Amino acid sequence: MFETAKWIWAPLDAACECPVFEKRLTLAEAPTRAVLAVTAVGLYQAYLNGERLGDALFTPGWTSYTHRLQYQVYELDGKLRAGENCLSVQCANGWAVGYLGRGNTNHLYADHISLLAGLEWQDGAGRVHRLGTDAGWEVRSSCLRSSEIYHGETLDLTYSPVCLGHALEESGPGARLIPQEGVAVTEQERIAPRALIVTPKGERVIDFGQNLAGYVELRLRGRRGERVTLSHAEVLDRDGNFYTENLELARCRNTYVLSGGEDLLKPAFSFQGFRYVRLDEYPPGEVDLRAFTSVAVYSRMRRTGEFVCGNAKVNRLYQNVLWGQRSNFLEVPTDCPQRDERVGWLGDIQVFVRTAAINFDVLPFLRKWLGDVRLEQRGDGAVGSVAPAVQGRGTKISAAWGDAAVICPWELYLAYGDREILRQNYPMMCRWVEYVRSCGEEEFLWLGGDHYGDWLASDAELSPKVRQGATQTDLIASAFFAHIASLMARIAGVLGREADAAAFGQLYASVRKAFRAYFMKDGLPVLYPRFDGLSANRKVLGLTQTSLTLILHFGLYEGEEERARLIRRLTELIRENGGRMSTGFVGTPYLLHVLSENGCHRQAADLFFQEKSPSWLFAVNHGATTVWEHWDGVREDGSFWSDCKNSFNHYSYGAVFDWVYARVLGIRLQPGGAGYSDVLLAPQPDRRFGFAQGAIRTVRGRLGVRWEYGAGDEVRYEMEIPPDCRATVRLPDGRTYACGQGRYLFYTSDTGSP
Ligand code: BGC
Repeated sequence: MFETAKWIWAPLDAACECPVFEKRLTLAEAPTRAVLAVTAVGLYQAYLNGERLGDALFTPGWTSYTHRLQYQVYELDGKLRAGENCLSVQCANGWAVGYLGRGNTNHLYADHISLLAGLEWQDGAGRVHRLGTDAGWEVRSSCLRSSEIYHGETLDLTYSPVCLGHALEESGPGARLIPQEGVAVTEQERIAPRALIVTPKGERVIDFGQNLAGYVELRLRGRRGERVTLSHAEVLDRDGNFYTENLELARCRNTYVLSGGEDLLKPAFSFQGFRYVRLDEYPPGEVDLRAFTSVAVYSRMRRTGEFVCGNAKVNRLYQNVLWGQRSNFLEVPTDCPQRDERVGWLGDIQVFVRTAAINFDVLPFLRKWLGDVRLEQRGDGAVGSVAPAVQGRGTKISAAWGDAAVICPWELYLAYGDREILRQNYPMMCRWVEYVRSCGEEEFLWLGGDHYGDWLASDAELSPKVRQGATQTDLIASAFFAHIASLMARIAGVLGREADAAAFGQLYASVRKAFRAYFMKDGLPVLYPRFDGLSANRKVLGLTQTSLTLILHFGLYEGEEERARLIRRLTELIRENGGRMSTGFVGTPYLLHVLSENGCHRQAADLFFQEKSPSWLFAVNHGATTVWEHWDGVREDGSFWSDCKNSFNHYSYGAVFDWVYARVLGIRLQPGGAGYSDVLLAPQPDRRFGFAQGAIRTVRGRLGVRWEYGAGDEVRYEMEIPPDCRATVRLPDGRTYACGQGRYLFYTSDTGSP
């Protein structure tokens, strides 16, 4: 479709940052068939005869622009007409040209916007005609005066666009063109304002009641030339004032100049992470809240998980987890949607992927993103911490971040039973494992290096300068090395690569042995003060909740006695910490699983229901509507953890919901049960939940579990098993049943504690 098309661009200045490229064409007759293919360096929205084509936002999407660039195809049947037609494409900087990454710099991938479009149509006689972008296209300025992902937009509807002459042809970017691979970003939920607040500072602020990623849509009739400026924020400070410090360099501000008629106002190429908007400029008079709607914007995903229980705080937490995912699944899985970051951090999705794949069908979305992870892999096999690569962000090669290259495809395989995702990523995984094996001075350990560690754990006197937690990073890196080696043995097995499976099995055994020799003494983790233990500018410990958790979860212990000692020590550390965790990104997702798996489900549930920070419900009690980056993003006294790096919309800790599914509802895959072909249903009722009900729309159908307390001490269980699913039901009293497709009812008496 691009056969005759040339890449075009136009030199721009402050008078025109967001150009429109335009072409008029006259047809003798309406075509029988017509398609248009478009892509851009920057972002674009295409129009035919003034009508917007499609509803996808942020096209052509975000990929590793140095390697590949998506294009979209639009069917124009019935839209291209006899007589004159006008094809126009509005462009903006977006990720490729605009401000992105650390230091608020722009032009990371290209220093100007470029466009490529090809139109193809067939006339009544069956002849095919083509028209592509070339120097014959005109360029004009637009009412969109400026647009940046981080900073917002200015739309001046009083501005009269002017023709800037003809476009220039160029050779275009080096990236390979690929058809749209990911899912389209579109408008999703719409939320009405909850209240108009006048803050102590006297500012007018609208509260939408829900933190999210998207924008405010405004339907307004004002006087021509009147201005509306909206600033965005996630939270108010403890005095109730509008708070934007945590957005750092991202301005997150949209300005509109009204036309005088009825205007529909919203950004076209920018999004904000917000719950509140401040009316910085607004026409005089009363504010009619009906003019405002908050619109969530994210990549289209089918919802697959459901959960509800009898505890309002837990239900709120679940909603927060869903909103964390919606807010950060916009083109790539991001850390947060508000500050000058919003990039594809591998560690965050590594932590959250299992929960993500329960909540929504994320296979197409993550398949595309993993393609970018593959393309960004270095020649020596190293996988960076951010994909698509963004200069100044995620250039560290870190355990638990780079390991996403193995863990994410594996989790997707488990959730959907899709072998293809393993096949596609297998070479990348092998090269990553090889990198880890060869990067240090010890073949079977990963020592030294520069890691994010147990990111944001509270056991190392967390401060804006020290965020790695106390767990020795050498221990974390080596434990993950063992973990991915063992996953690789299983992955190779699934792919029928028996020799590889044996080799990875060997590697796992060697790493495990070396790990035990180096990091364990008398069956407990110890500090080996050589690399991280010596050079770190923070407290570093061998024995932490996270180190114990990793050893237990990755099976790095030897024998029952050792296992019992480790779990005992872990529960002691939790008790010594006031019944709270001290874990960060690395330890938290496994901690509750480890407790439940090792006879301490009660303690796991206690952590889940803990309300003092660090805990999940602490944020819920503080009115959170999304999952916070920090356990104490807002402290007990209402002050902020810090003015920087304090996102209120990070999904990582939302990973606790895979524990809720696995242990509270009890839905777990059996070994070899990928795609929910073989499951264990072992619910563990707990009166603090009241009742619990959840389901996963698996690739086989709906798999659901509900339990509730009946009269006296009776517990009633309802289970729904989809076709082609073998289920073993195990009740808390030890009874087990083998079940196939169908609906089942079971009863037990409540034994008091799980
Ligand atoms: C991000 C994290 C990310 C981290 C790397 C932060 O700025 O927001 O979520 O994983 O950097 O450690």
